[in-house]
Amino acid sequence: MTRHDARAALIIVALVVVVGLAIGYIVGLLTRGDPVAYKAPEAPHGSFAAPAESVPQAGQGLPGWTDLYVNDWQDLLDDEAEARVRRKLIALYDLSGIEMTLVTFQNVAMFGTHQELEPFATALFNHWGVGNAVRNDGVMIIVARYDRRMRIEIGAGYDRSWNARMQRVIDTGFLPSFRADQYQEGIERGVDETIRELTGAYPGEQGAGPVMRGWSWIWRLVQRVGEWIAVVALVPVAGFALWLRRWIRNRPRPCRSCGTLMIRAGEDADDAHLDGGQRLEEFLQSVDYDVWHCPGCGDMRINRYSSWFSSYGACRDCGYKTLESHSTVLTPATKTSTGRKRIDYECRHCGASHSETRTIPKISDSNSSGSGRSSFGGGSSSGGGASGSW
Ligand SMILES: [Zn+2]
Ligand SMILES: [Zn+2]
Repeated sequence: MTRHDARAALIIVALVVVVGLAIGYIVGLLTRGDPVAYKAPEAPHGSFAAPAESVPQAGQGLPGWTDLYVNDWQDLLDDEAEARVRRKLIALYDLSGIEMTLVTFQNVAMFGTHQELEPFATALFNHWGVGNAVRNDGVMIIVARYDRRMRIEIGAGYDRSWNARMQRVIDTGFLPSFRADQYQEGIERGVDETIRELTGAYPGEQGAGPVMRGWSWIWRLVQRVGEWIAVVALVPVAGFALWLRRWIRNRPRPCRSCGTLMIRAGEDADDAHLDGGQRLEEFLQSVDYDVWHCPGCGDMRINRYSSWFSSYGACRDCGYKTLESHSTVLTPATKTSTGRKRIDYECRHCGASHSETRTIPKISDSNSSGSGRSSFGGGSSSGGGASGSW
């Protein structure tokens, strides 16, 4: 295979991948659906006011929401913790479109019902219409402080396997702190665990580099659109691309000096021909090296394959792809002002380090942003989720 063939093959792969992603994207847009006006189901306990302005009083039936993200009526969070949780839930919505809301109150009985928490949670979820009406991907976390009961109620779009996942979040994220009467700690940790279960990443860790972000965007799209499109479009495309990449990488190649077919050394033999920086790159999986050896003239070639999904950057001092980065928010952005963050870089190979500060954009206030969202999307639940007691 000549260099020209290789280039043609790469172009074909690129085309196939782009077409595959475009199909996935278009299908994603078509099946996404705009929030639909939602008619609340006939409620079992009298009539309910639209969004209440204050903490609901006892005996008034199913309460309206006071906030799209945090309804901390039992005041289990201090102001700062409440702001942190709200920021995370806004980011979750902006990144994934998932509407998640937290509700805390004294006990179910204060709403004039003797229901168990489970049917109450389903009724409240459907009364508010949490989540996109088409995807039904809303999530409601309820903490009933003096019932010592909590529930994560999930939309009808999640299949039954999600119940066990939410149970794990409750058992490992929320309950250990609740049992020690550490409600704020338990809620913050539990919300983080819930977001991780839903998106595969903890809040704030979604920004692991553009390729990682792109990859998780595709993954969310796949999850959102449904598994069938993954099977129909992405798996064969990705499989073909990976196969072709491997074939091009492993194909026999003639020696440039004498024309004899070269032999690829095994991974152990590779290491003997690599320097310290290259071995560290292989260890960090930021670069993979292949060593080819010519049996005719003894010529040796080292091919370098940089990983597409590595979080390591190239060090400007030693040149190896061994640069770690870690960012710290100095001043958070608000709706009215930009924020600042510091990014610290340190090279795992040569130890060189430097820092830089970057601007964090203002929190967007457009309609497409969570911070500008004015109502729930009209989603419904058929009773899925998990509960816990402490
Ligand atoms: Zn040779
Ligand atoms: Zn370095």
